[in-house]
Amino acid sequence: MAETLRMGVTGAPEANPLRVGQKVELLEISRAWLVDPVAGREGPGEIVVRDGILEAVTWLEGDEAEGIGPDGVVVAPGFIDLHVHLREPGNEDAETVASGLAAAAHGGFTSVCAMPNTTPAADEPGVFARVRGAAVASGSPVELLLHGAVTVGRGGERLAALGELADAGAVGFSDDGSPVKSPVILRNALLYAGMLGVPLFEHAEDTALTVGAEANEGYVATVLGLKGWPAAAEVVAAERAIAVLAAVLPDAPGARLHLTHLSTAGALDAVRRAKAVGLPVTCDVTPHHLGLTDEWVAGARRWAWDAIGEDGSARDPWADGALVAHPYDTACKVNPPLRSAEDAAAVLAALVDGTADAVATDHAPHSQVDKEVEFGLAANGISGVETALGVLLAAVGAQRMTLGRAVAALTTGPARVLGDRAGRVGARGLTERAPADLVVFDAGAGWTVSTATLVSRGTNSPLLGRELAGRVLLTVADGRLAYRDAEA
Ligand SMILES: [Zn+2]
Repeated sequence: MAETLRMGVTGAPEANPLRVGQKVELLEISRAWLVDPVAGREGPGEIVVRDGILEAVTWLEGDEAEGIGPDGVVVAPGFIDLHVHLREPGNEDAETVASGLAAAAHGGFTSVCAMPNTTPAADEPGVFARVRGAAVASGSPVELLLHGAVTVGRGGERLAALGELADAGAVGFSDDGSPVKSPVILRNALLYAGMLGVPLFEHAEDTALTVGAEANEGYVATVLGLKGWPAAAEVVAAERAIAVLAAVLPDAPGARLHLTHLSTAGALDAVRRAKAVGLPVTCDVTPHHLGLTDEWVAGARRWAWDAIGEDGSARDPWADGALVAHPYDTACKVNPPLRSAEDAAAVLAALVDGTADAVATDHAPHSQVDKEVEFGLAANGISGVETALGVLLAAVGAQRMTLGRAVAALTTGPARVLGDRAGRVGARGLTERAPADLVVFDAGAGWTVSTATLVSRGTNSPLLGRELAGRVLLTVADGRLAYRDAEA
């Protein structure tokens, strides 16, 4: 714990705690580990926030720095999530804008980009206005950015009013939940979105290969009797989208393709090759696809890097005695599915080498009625915005990734994907004289994921009952309090 973690707010006596949404009048954090991904610097330091402004960032050296490490209190810029589902309007039992923004703040996020697969879909600016109204009413200072639908009603038939959506501030276009249905629509969408300077966020899935699919195609699905979900469904969709992008570039030089929640070695290789020849392709990966594997569906609960043998192939959870939970837990059902340990290793490697630009959570809260059914019938999705940091810190703790890379993947990486449509996001460094936008977490303190500790209405997480490192103590967005741990 840092020696000083003091907060105050104008006119508020000590007994009157700072409330979410209020300006942070004074915050002093001494003897913490600072991570500034813009400066590419991390180390011992101190910060002072006054009147909501990050007034001073002081790096410590010599004796002053002694005893301060990255395994204690860490201060980093607020995280950006390129991909969340807030369920409002239409499915407020699962999540609302207010509960989703509160959950995001608990996860250390100060900006989130909501996907348009609400009911109705965000295919015209009126839905944007409604969602933004809910964000304002929530009082949360977490920045809500919006993706617009590619097609009307996400039906895949007719392009939505992309120009109007861009004018209304869309940060991306996506039919997420589903892929853009046809290559013809994809081509037109990339052309128009390219002229508008807005990236197309594609959910890469060839649905002809995933009809009735339940779990990643392979050994685990076979043993469990679940219908396989082939990696090829993602690989061919990713390659097709990249090929279409290459074809439209001469006519729309501003076209940009972002492949979201990639989960397979093959799709990441396709991105790697596309980047190598200079195509404007970016991608994100989720914490659950790098930290969890398909053996979780069988009841294993070990991290992906512990599920792989020295020869680089997935271990057998039955032979290992690794099964500790009930099989067929629908909290493990997600699209794309939890993959093999080999794919998870490829996802992590892609994040480390920069092929993957960002970590996005694909936060997909569901109500219990949509999950307490047979595995094959259960809704796809994991409530993940609050556990992302913990999963990444597990990888850091296992020395699979550096803390600096994890923070960059949550800050500068997604900011670059959003480019000049990033709103308040900016560059996301620890920048003096800018409005304070940061997360303070204790990398050495754990918290247990439970229906009580999750802020989201969706408690559909395979991590329930597990202790994660990196308790978030404080989240400050735009100079205002977004989240504060009860004990901080
Ligand atoms: Zn998706």
